[in-house]
Amino acid sequence: MRIIYIHATVCSSIPSLSLTKLFPSKPNLLLTNSNQLANLFQTMNFISKPESRSSASATIQQVPGLASDDMYGIADQTFQMYSSSSSRTGRGGGTAIVWFRNDLRVLDNEALYEAWVSSQMVLPVYCVDPRLLGTTYYFGFPKTGALRAQFLIECLADLKKNLIKRGLNLLIQHGKPEEILPSLAKAYGAHTVYAQKETCSEELNVERLVTKGLQQVMPEPASESSNVRNPKLQLIWGTTMYHIDDLPFDTVSLPDVYTQFRKSVEAKCTIRGCIKTPTSLGPPPSVSEWGYVPSIDQLGFQSQNVNKGMKFVGGESAALGRVNEYFWKKDLLKIYKETRNGMLGPDYSTKFSPWLASGSLSPRFIHEEVKRYENERQANNSTYWILFELIWRDYFRFLSVKYGNSLFHIGGPRKVDRRWSQDKNLFESWRNGHTGYPLIDANMKELSTTGFMSNRGRQIVCSFLVRDMGIDWRMGAEWFETCLLDFDPCSNYGNWTYGAGVGNDPREDRYFRIPKQAQTYDPEGEYVAYWLPQLRSLPKEKRNFPGKSYIEQVVPLKFKSAGGKGKAQDTASAARRTNFGGMRTKGHCK
Ligand code: FAD
Repeated sequence: MRIIYIHATVCSSIPSLSLTKLFPSKPNLLLTNSNQLANLFQTMNFISKPESRSSASATIQQVPGLASDDMYGIADQTFQMYSSSSSRTGRGGGTAIVWFRNDLRVLDNEALYEAWVSSQMVLPVYCVDPRLLGTTYYFGFPKTGALRAQFLIECLADLKKNLIKRGLNLLIQHGKPEEILPSLAKAYGAHTVYAQKETCSEELNVERLVTKGLQQVMPEPASESSNVRNPKLQLIWGTTMYHIDDLPFDTVSLPDVYTQFRKSVEAKCTIRGCIKTPTSLGPPPSVSEWGYVPSIDQLGFQSQNVNKGMKFVGGESAALGRVNEYFWKKDLLKIYKETRNGMLGPDYSTKFSPWLASGSLSPRFIHEEVKRYENERQANNSTYWILFELIWRDYFRFLSVKYGNSLFHIGGPRKVDRRWSQDKNLFESWRNGHTGYPLIDANMKELSTTGFMSNRGRQIVCSFLVRDMGIDWRMGAEWFETCLLDFDPCSNYGNWTYGAGVGNDPREDRYFRIPKQAQTYDPEGEYVAYWLPQLRSLPKEKRNFPGKSYIEQVVPLKFKSAGGKGKAQDTASAARRTNFGGMRTKGHCK
């Protein structure tokens, strides 16, 4: 029997995979030749490998862990709680398009609601943009990995189903939004395209192009008397828990210290309630072919089954199911603050992030559910801490407005001038989970197998790549961009700039000592033994420190001991081995 392994895990074991393919000689050049792209994509995506006995017997945990009847039952009940029976009274005329982007939901979707209010008919559209299937900006990794593509497909299928229940449907088109939307606006005489506002350069560029395309749509002569305007693009804020218009400062004067931001919004702003969507949004315009949700191979991927660890179910119904499961069924919200630094299994943290990133879940809905839980069960530090973390998410989103493209530049928002290595062998050992440090390797294997990694794991592997290996942090960030189910440019690049010490806040500059992290967060080596089964036979205290029983360490650590401050010579030797210079040693150790 053979199974398919995702690209990252096995790239290093395939001699034919030339590294120069992964790293164009000028890293800031995109691969533009379509054959080159196709080859790269194919090679990086799926390589089959004989299945091992241990991986075959490993369990897969579905998130949420609900039977599908329960999941859809919970979703229907939740939709009912958040529905209004509004009639057509007060609605505008004509047709409006809703262009779904990273807001793949019905509940608390303001763009959908505004489109409904402003028109007689709503045409929901999703564009499968070929650019999402291209490559990352500097290092040419696949922009979307197969697991996130599968998650997206499930989100689209669920959205389509939920729109049909409300009398609409989802028109799925393959192509660039700036080409599809103007032509649909023309064909259906739409007066407005409603969409959720994005904040990063690639998405802003598409917004500009769509606006331009719509300006070129001439109104139909028949409709000229009533409406002589070109259709317009109406962008609506919708990604954060706190609304951008409610902030007590302009984004240009956003505090550079998270705590100041948090205290200020907590004191001065209220979180808006969820929009109640009408139970019936139809009828839609007459569309001859709504189109099917694409299959994974239609998107150019080979099917990638999760064979170990967590398998996330895409879509709004699953998101609502997970909130219900975590808060109400398993009653885990009350202990979140104590468990959130775990690494193994679905229940140490909420796992909301993949649905938040695709917009299948509204942060305002989570806020309302936290408040309901606090009223009906209990309020404590844990119930507050979920909101605390969601404010981090908001903060990174608003920082992307303040700092723009510098978030993606090597020097980050503070334009830090530092030399980084781009050593391909070292990077590959990190990416493939072959560094010789079980905690790093286990986390990287989890990422490539499931598309998820805990927050603790992300901080540790980030610190190891940038501090111990001295590798250009953008390589790590782009690899996360490929693999993460919850990839979000603001949270990803925001966290990476912090981890690399180039973020907007100079105090966020931490070194994570692996021995200490292992002793604190994986004291019995359960996590590493799960992902690296060859370590399971070792005594528990040895699993994270296997010595010669495991592969050789590719670099020494900057600071070796489990406790206490590191020594200067550790830094010097790390610098020599990784062929980089100028790494600073200040910043605090964790
Ligand atoms: P929980 O602990 O349950 O937290 C609840 C929610 O709070 C999360 O779903 C998330 O939306 C938000 N949150 C928590 N921590 C953070 C944080 N540090 N930054 C921003 N939001 C946070 N998160 C992403 O959503 N997308 C990314 O691309 C991403 N890349 C990251 C890269 C690095 C190097 C690091 C260190 C962190 C990154 N994070 C990212 C943040 C964090 O690791 C994940 O949000 C979290 O692990 C998701 O698991 P959870 O939903 O169970 O989180």
